[in-house]
Amino acid sequence: MARGKKIYEGKAKVLYEGPEPGTIVQYFKDDATAFNAEKKDVIDGKGVLNNRLSEYFMVGLSQIGVPTHFLKRLNMREQLVRNCEIIPLEVIVRNYAAGSMSKRLGIEEGTQLPRPIVEYCYKDDSLGDPLVTEEHIAAFGWASQQDMDDILSLALRVNDFLAGVMYGVGIKLIDFKIEIGRVYDGDFQRLVVADEISPDSCRLWDIESGKKLDKDVFRQDLGNLTDAYTEVAHRLGVLPKSAPVSKPTLIN
Ligand code: C5P
Repeated sequence: MARGKKIYEGKAKVLYEGPEPGTIVQYFKDDATAFNAEKKDVIDGKGVLNNRLSEYFMVGLSQIGVPTHFLKRLNMREQLVRNCEIIPLEVIVRNYAAGSMSKRLGIEEGTQLPRPIVEYCYKDDSLGDPLVTEEHIAAFGWASQQDMDDILSLALRVNDFLAGVMYGVGIKLIDFKIEIGRVYDGDFQRLVVADEISPDSCRLWDIESGKKLDKDVFRQDLGNLTDAYTEVAHRLGVLPKSAPVSKPTLIN
């Protein structure tokens, strides 16, 4: 399919105008960044894996009635999604302490939390996506109270789904981040899960060994990131066991 005009290039994806009004082509790059892009690399095959994994999770979510922006995967690196207005929040759900929460509150990584904890960060790279409260969100008009109720409910449903799917393949869902978009059907507004769901935006630990199978492998130099993501994809049956992740050559 001929690509439309480039709309936006982020750290891990490029967005192009889609073939129909209201659609967008989301292209997954191999670029990996961490610590607000202070650490950067290009990891062969990462974009291909995230495209497949995000498709798998988004399709699963829509099958259980959680609305998402996903329409269809187009090829190895691209998927067609609904154009939506992204709410400028990173919605984080945590089941176990890790990462910034462990640092902030002095809780040892891996400690199970009494219940899932939902946090909101304001999406602004120049500020390092700071943690904000619902007070900030309401006062600055980033989302209404009704939106916040819907976002919380979506986040917890995604958590139940992802935690269950992962548990089924021997992986503990430590935490994850999602983004929420508004889509308009005429005058009617709906919220949908947008952006991507992949090991770039989740913490995934092997239940038995505690081995990390997510972007912390890159952040903390724990080994080969593609191997970790490939293992997640194999366990979920997203890639056949025999299929190595070939270096993509068709679309670049
Ligand atoms: O770094 P922190 O512990 O706050 O991250 C919580 C979760 O959100 C992790 O799974 C991380 O991968 C994800 N995250 C993300 N994008 C960000 C910040 C965090 O996907 N900009």
